[in-house]
Amino acid sequence: MNHILVAEDEPRIASFVESGLTRHGYIVTVVNDGEAAYEYARSGAFDLMILDLGLPITDGLTVLRLLRAEKVDLPVVVLSARDSVADTVRGLESGADDYIRKPFGFDELLARVRLRLKSSGGQPEERMLRVGDLTLDVLTRRVLVDGGEVEVELTAREFALAEVFFRHPGHVLTKEQLLSQVWGLDFDPGSNVVEVYVRYLRRKIGDHRIDTLRGLGYRLRTESRASNEGPTDQLAGRD
Ligand code: CA
Repeated sequence: MNHILVAEDEPRIASFVESGLTRHGYIVTVVNDGEAAYEYARSGAFDLMILDLGLPITDGLTVLRLLRAEKVDLPVVVLSARDSVADTVRGLESGADDYIRKPFGFDELLARVRLRLKSSGGQPEERMLRVGDLTLDVLTRRVLVDGGEVEVELTAREFALAEVFFRHPGHVLTKEQLLSQVWGLDFDPGSNVVEVYVRYLRRKIGDHRIDTLRGLGYRLRTESRASNEGPTDQLAGRD
């Protein structure tokens, strides 16, 4: 059983992360300032830490640097603020193993946690997700199309959406499922972000890769070739 330390001072986010991880069988301890994060992290009682950078008393980056200076090799996944690329870079330079930008969906967090726990356990990482002739590299957040001949870079949000599709190939995913898994905390059920981002993703990996099933949701095709029928949304528009 893995024991995860969550250092987050925003109660809403802390409880979102805690309840989700607990549901997936992890033992979770939450601390809400940097001093406690530092003391707990060096105790040796944890397998991984999720570290918010903006913490009171001691900020997350300082906590990370202190731990790494003491050769504490606990895997650390950093939570960084939206659009703060500089923070993300500083986090990685200070010894973070991975990062997630806020706001994040629970699936994205879970994927990062599993990946980091696996890699620290010395087992092969689940780095490449393959569907048909598409490969998603979860570490570099790129998609390889046509068996690697074309390499496409995704934004953080496009990647999160792609990852959900790649983890459920051939399954119909509803708009609500995609909203909660990719946009997580603060999504508006009436918003059209899913449509918009599916369009972005199609533009990058190919229109025919993702089917629209009207009134149901979206599906990543498991075969690489487009069928003769074409995407369902075009069919629906013809009658
Ligand atoms: Ca914070």
